[in-house]
Amino acid sequence: MVKQTIQIFARVKPTVRKQQQGIYSIDEDEKLTHSLEIVLPRDLADGFVNNKRESYKFKFQRIFDQEAKQEIIFEIIAKPVAESTLAGYNGTIFAYGQTGSGKTFTITGGAERYSDRGIIPRTLSYIFEQLQKDSSKIYTTHISYLEIYNECGYDLLDPRHEASKLEDLPKVTILEDPDQNIHLKNLSLHQATTEEEALNLLFLGDTNRMIAETPMNQASTRSHCIFTVHLSSKEPGSATVRHAKLHLVDLAGSERVSKTGVGGLLLTEAKYINLSLHYLEQVIIALSEKHRTHIPYRNSMMTSVLRDSLGGNCMTTMIATLSLEKRNIDESISTCRFAQRVALIKNEAILNEEIDPRLMIVRLQKEIEDLKAELAMATGEQRTEALTEAELLQLEKLIASYLEDQDPESRLEVGADMRKIHHCFHHFKKLLNDKKTLENTVSSESTRQACQEPLRDEEYTKLLGLLKQRDNEINILVNMLKKEKKKTQDALQNSSLEKSDTRPPQNSPFIAGSPAVPRTPFSSAPSHTQDLSICRHRSSLLHKKTGMREEMSLGRQEAFEIFKRDHADSVTIEDNKQVLKQRFSEAKALGESINEARSKIGQLKDAINQRHLQQVALGISENTVPASTPDPQEEKLRAQLEEEKGRYKTAFMHLKALKVEIEHLQLLMDKAKVKLQKEFEAWWAEEATSLQVNSPATNLQDAVKPFPQQDQAQLLSKKSDRNARRILPSPCPNQQSQEPSGSRVLVQDRPLSSIPLTGDSQTDSDILAFIKARQSILQKKCLGSN
Ligand code: ADP
Ligand code: MG
Repeated sequence: MVKQTIQIFARVKPTVRKQQQGIYSIDEDEKLTHSLEIVLPRDLADGFVNNKRESYKFKFQRIFDQEAKQEIIFEIIAKPVAESTLAGYNGTIFAYGQTGSGKTFTITGGAERYSDRGIIPRTLSYIFEQLQKDSSKIYTTHISYLEIYNECGYDLLDPRHEASKLEDLPKVTILEDPDQNIHLKNLSLHQATTEEEALNLLFLGDTNRMIAETPMNQASTRSHCIFTVHLSSKEPGSATVRHAKLHLVDLAGSERVSKTGVGGLLLTEAKYINLSLHYLEQVIIALSEKHRTHIPYRNSMMTSVLRDSLGGNCMTTMIATLSLEKRNIDESISTCRFAQRVALIKNEAILNEEIDPRLMIVRLQKEIEDLKAELAMATGEQRTEALTEAELLQLEKLIASYLEDQDPESRLEVGADMRKIHHCFHHFKKLLNDKKTLENTVSSESTRQACQEPLRDEEYTKLLGLLKQRDNEINILVNMLKKEKKKTQDALQNSSLEKSDTRPPQNSPFIAGSPAVPRTPFSSAPSHTQDLSICRHRSSLLHKKTGMREEMSLGRQEAFEIFKRDHADSVTIEDNKQVLKQRFSEAKALGESINEARSKIGQLKDAINQRHLQQVALGISENTVPASTPDPQEEKLRAQLEEEKGRYKTAFMHLKALKVEIEHLQLLMDKAKVKLQKEFEAWWAEEATSLQVNSPATNLQDAVKPFPQQDQAQLLSKKSDRNARRILPSPCPNQQSQEPSGSRVLVQDRPLSSIPLTGDSQTDSDILAFIKARQSILQKKCLGSN
């Protein structure tokens, strides 16, 4: 058992404005304790704070300042947790902080560069690397990805995600067994045998999350995401299996609303926007108070799921993400305060070991086989299912002599052979039944005789003795029968227990809680076919989401091209494309040099063999003993071979790493494309709506039939949340809406009403929206050049 308090780390996000850096400082004392001092700027201190404190100091295991790279974050924070998971302990890393402070960047990574990949991809990479190195154990890895939004759980890897809205998906629910173990119903587990497969699942989940997000449901800031690696391991031949879960958690933004409504430091008054973070805090408070017995885990889904991570069987680490700008000071202080409380919580991680019942059965069967063989050796007889004729005959003789023997101490010795024992029982039962019928007839006969003539004394005593003897026999037999019956019952019970323990193999590793209790497999682990379908699903999903243009009208396609060109992300996509190209050509060159090295290795091996043969042949022809000193030429060839092998290995390892990078970059690009497409659709709908609103009613309504995207457009226009719409990189976001409603929409200097329309509503609205899009881009360009 490992007792440890929750480790707390802080990470400060790079600030945009340099002059704001003076508001905090990081110190390290002689005991290597790191502390973060947040200095309140004067105006804030004078203005809102009653007690006039000017600085706040918080201790952390370590504090990472703005320039800290993802690599070091992984090395210091995540690697130790991943190591303990590999050793069989549960682990959790969670990021906590206000929206925009870098939680997602830290946990998942940035969307632009390979070097920006966060804790999840790096941990996956590390885990699979270690699994490959360790051949002493057999490992199985499964992945699950859960999102908790508004207290409801959603499976981010559910294949139905694509077809349905978030709300229509089956909710992941919590079930608790009598031992208070938590089981998650409807959360799928996917086997991942390689780093690439696991990475695919991460991207699939993230893409599903992005697609489900709408301006009304800003899931990314208000939901919690729990990416879990389920690892089970066992030594070959051993029946003991170790299970460990590693939760990597990206929490919802921790921002609060203050009752005062100002950014002052009245933090006790402030309330979380997110209810489950409020419950998380309740749990943390309860755990950090010494004498509290009741911990309110059950109040929310998130605290239930993370129950083991908070004060339970887990090694837990928290990363407080801070965006230390002046306007965020109060949020940053409350994040640090939260972390200080978390640091008081003690966890007790234990090895989660259990006996695999399937392996136990296999083991016992093997033992039976061995014992049978030993028995056969000891008795010198081979055991068959049924008794042979000779054995039966011998038994009958034994039974007969046993029954005839008047000595009450006599015993029937048949040896430790259940088949013979059973046969004896059958025999006795038969005898008993025969005797009963016989006695019945005898007794009726004797009654009849008694009526006729009185029994002779001598005969009477003899019969009495016989009766007593039979009574004894019967009693003994009944006892034996009872014992036998009990044995059979026990055996039956055992076998039914074994049966109920034999669950489908994939279920056993993933059910949380104490290992000794038989569990019900609520969450069904997927079969290999399902894994495949997930991969296929991912590619079809991304393809569909990015390949939508095939179904677009020409106007819309052109607008999409322009939109894409002007979109900020297109630079990233282009950059990544270039990097990918470069990596591909690097990979190609590496592949070639690997092939070269391989053929050279082959040639060298041949040359060595040939040289060897030559030497032997020479020895035979000259009839000399082969020289004991090594042949210098062969030595040289061998040295070359080793060198070539080294080169081959280096190139191969390099190629392997490149492959992972290429895969990662491709996934990043796929994701960026889906995002672009999604934003285009939203922008398009908005443009279409504003076009309808702004155009002269008479012209348009005459010319254009009901707008095909009307439903969606109306829906969007209803959303008063204009802030949310700001995320769309509309080339000229507010211009259309600022136009007076009666103004004419111009294409260069042509009135819109003069554009010939086709009469087909889809095409016409596409044409109009396209013109509008062009126009706003033109306007933007004009503004830019002014
Ligand atoms: P959160 O998930 O906490 O809301 P994000 O991780 O989305 O915040 O970060 C907000 C923005 O800041 C993103 O654009 C992200 O790329 C950037 N960012 C966050 N942390 C860092 C960092 N350490 N280095 C560079 N950029 C960062
Ligand atoms: Mg985030």
